[in-house]
Amino acid sequence: MKVDYIIVGLGLAGLAFSKELEKNNKSFIVFENNSQNSSIVAGGVYNPVILKRFTPVWEAKNQLEIAIPFYSELEDQFKKKYNYSLDIFRIFKSIEEQNNWFIATDHQQLSEYMIPKIENSKIKGIISNYGYGKLINTGWVDTKNLLEDYRNYLSINKKLLQEDFQYTTFNIQENSIIYNSITCSKIVFCEGFGIKQNPYFNYLPMQEAKGELIIIHAPNLNVNALIKAAVFVLPLGDNYYKIGATFNWNHKTSIPTDEGKNELKEKLDTFINVPYKIVEQLAGIRPTVKDRRPLLGTHPNYPNLAVLNGLGTRGVMIAPTAAKQLYNYLENKIEINNEYSILRFLKN
Ligand SMILES: Cc1cc2nc3c(=O)[nH]c(=O)nc-3n(C[C@H](O)[C@H](O)[C@H](O)COP(=O)(O)OP(=O)(O)OC[C@H]3O[C@@H](n4cnc5c(N)ncnc54)[C@H](O)[C@@H]3O)c2cc1C
Repeated sequence: MKVDYIIVGLGLAGLAFSKELEKNNKSFIVFENNSQNSSIVAGGVYNPVILKRFTPVWEAKNQLEIAIPFYSELEDQFKKKYNYSLDIFRIFKSIEEQNNWFIATDHQQLSEYMIPKIENSKIKGIISNYGYGKLINTGWVDTKNLLEDYRNYLSINKKLLQEDFQYTTFNIQENSIIYNSITCSKIVFCEGFGIKQNPYFNYLPMQEAKGELIIIHAPNLNVNALIKAAVFVLPLGDNYYKIGATFNWNHKTSIPTDEGKNELKEKLDTFINVPYKIVEQLAGIRPTVKDRRPLLGTHPNYPNLAVLNGLGTRGVMIAPTAAKQLYNYLENKIEINNEYSILRFLKN
């Protein structure tokens, strides 16, 4: 089989790069071994405001301008909804936070998202003694359903190999790469935290950030916004809510733990006063980079091996922009924006 590209990994990064190839009529085959599940368990939330400090998220506006049409195209392709607009209610802990909110709403990059008002109306089931601030033009993408549908689509079209990509199997020649019976021009590695196993790119400074979530059923909670207090409460419909997420910098597996569950429960209990039942627990590893920027580029010695990784905590917003930049670099020689490029990390 002869293809233009092999893609390794079908999380948000692999999906975004595959779409870029489809749009440009390039042929490809994707390897996916289900070793990581960050994109599948993710909250899927997109929000251009850092909710701890009320500061702008890096490049968020530019990224959203590409991301929103990207998810719309997928909705058109599969005739399904994946992108749900959803306001965010940020519960305040103190008068100081209320003041900081007001100051931040004046910021030019934040004013289209943050409403300059302290909301005091009670939300049934939620404790909000200092009120809350409302964010608009935010939402979430149902990444699990989207990826399931996209995997099925690739599988039907014989573009998906559900197997391990073996790093020792391929042979790099000047203008092509041979992997068993497949000949391609380039390989793009999109393995998330799986990059640690990749001998060509594991020199890049990936810092694993395990995240755990629980799904609860709370029949008396009737919330139609994302609530953000000690943890987030994301309404999934029918009184089911996704609660998350933890940050653990030491665990290296995607296995849910009692420690994670207890932490989420303790934090949730600080601001929710209705009964609920935990129905599911999920975990994944966010592919996070020391400087919290993505990893795009080609190997210093093998220009036909490329990487698309480092989406960190914001894969939903970053993936479509990152895929576009990498594609334009590989095919049209347009330089990658410095902050996205792996050139900032020299290989020893
Ligand atoms: C708990 C949690 C909550 C999150 N919440 C949000 C959120 O609300 N909003 C947001 O934007 N982001 C969120 N994220 C972050 C987001 O999930 C990531 O930024 C994004 O999923 C990373 O996508 P990726 O494709 O780079 O990696 P992954 O999703 O890890 O995908 C990599 C893929 O490569 C495959 N793979 C790896 N090695 C191989 C190999 N050798 N052969 C074949 N296949 C291979 C893996 O199986 C996997 O499917 C969250 C993450 C977690 C863990």
